[in-house]
Amino acid sequence: MPALVLVLNSGSSSIKFTLYSGAEVRLDGQISGLGAKPHITLRSNNPDLKADRPLTSNEGASHGTALAALLPVLDQVLGGGNVNAVGHRVVHGGIAYSAPVQITEEIFADLKALEPLAPLHQPHNLAGIEAARTAFPEALQVACFDTAFHRSHPWVNDTFALPRQFYDEGVRRYGFHGLSFEYICSYLETAYPGLHSGRLIVAHLGNGASMCAIREGKSVGSTMGFTALDGLPMGTRCGQLDPGVLLYLLSAKGMSVEDVTDLLYKQSGLKGLSGISQDMRTLTQSTDPRAAEAIDYFIFRIRREIGAMAAILGGLDAVVFTGGIGENSVLVRDRVCADQDWLGLELDPQENRAGAEDLSADTSRVRILRVPTDEEEMIRRHTQALLRKLS
Ligand code: ADP
Repeated sequence: MPALVLVLNSGSSSIKFTLYSGAEVRLDGQISGLGAKPHITLRSNNPDLKADRPLTSNEGASHGTALAALLPVLDQVLGGGNVNAVGHRVVHGGIAYSAPVQITEEIFADLKALEPLAPLHQPHNLAGIEAARTAFPEALQVACFDTAFHRSHPWVNDTFALPRQFYDEGVRRYGFHGLSFEYICSYLETAYPGLHSGRLIVAHLGNGASMCAIREGKSVGSTMGFTALDGLPMGTRCGQLDPGVLLYLLSAKGMSVEDVTDLLYKQSGLKGLSGISQDMRTLTQSTDPRAAEAIDYFIFRIRREIGAMAAILGGLDAVVFTGGIGENSVLVRDRVCADQDWLGLELDPQENRAGAEDLSADTSRVRILRVPTDEEEMIRRHTQALLRKLS
């Protein structure tokens, strides 16, 4: 019987879940609005197991109660079988974890100590793990890290120019979205083996956004650094910032650390620049010039990073767009690639509008691809591999 694996992606107010039997998706969905207006969405082949409805406030009070509310639904799919393993997305693995691991008490404590490095994600990832340990006490619990793929960074791309002791204690340029980049690489390995072994830039553009420079399947650079704040502007995160701005906010403006944290993680990026929305769809539909300026800045930073990454890769074989914006925004892809023929990038406007996989013009020296990412699938593969290894 194929292994039953539940993949959980636990965020601040939501849990996304996918139940796999072997490689087959049996059920997926999410519980959103935790602690506020909880709501469940369920998709499955079984018409009786579809849902799009509010949960009671008791059911949706926390990650734990939400998972408990999901159990009867899972039982219907499992038909008496047990979940063999739960694979968790964990944003930060620090220096120590460069591959998926079975979550023991000791490892859980290590991951908890990393919470300040990813305050928007890590505490919620760990709340999901605690909830799953209660709901599935017999199952193997596996942590899959967004930082792991980047542990191959060369030193110059892993460090900041601070005194050495900071690097030694873990102040490093970790990089995130690793599960997405890893999935894209595995897709290219099958679909475009020539490109997989070449020089790639993958742009994961969603609410969170980062780009990765990849050579021969290994990450050699990322726009994100010590935390998931650096690099590109995001829905609500600032992206690259002169550290002098922080000193100014803290000293001249007298802001508290909590206020600065809120500013940089939740009030900046597209939302802060536009004053309208963090959502790219809303901004592209707006006629407000501030929306246009926010998009201009987003595009500008991506183009700048493409140039920088092409330089560290010593040339370029492909650019891959993924994530909610990368996969869906014709405008963003078009503007990122405009006038980049000097770099070998020529987009075919028709293929771009049609949302094709290969968006490059026939004359383009660099392939331009649009590949939907699937981080859950990557977690499933890792979790099943560990399950096989340990059983
Ligand atoms: P997350 O990082 O939360 O997983 P997603 O990858 O789902 O986010 O990306 C969400 C972003 O994708 C939002 O800014 C949304 O507006 C944008 N997006 C989704 N569809 C489109 C579209 N058709 N055109 C432009 N942007 C889109």
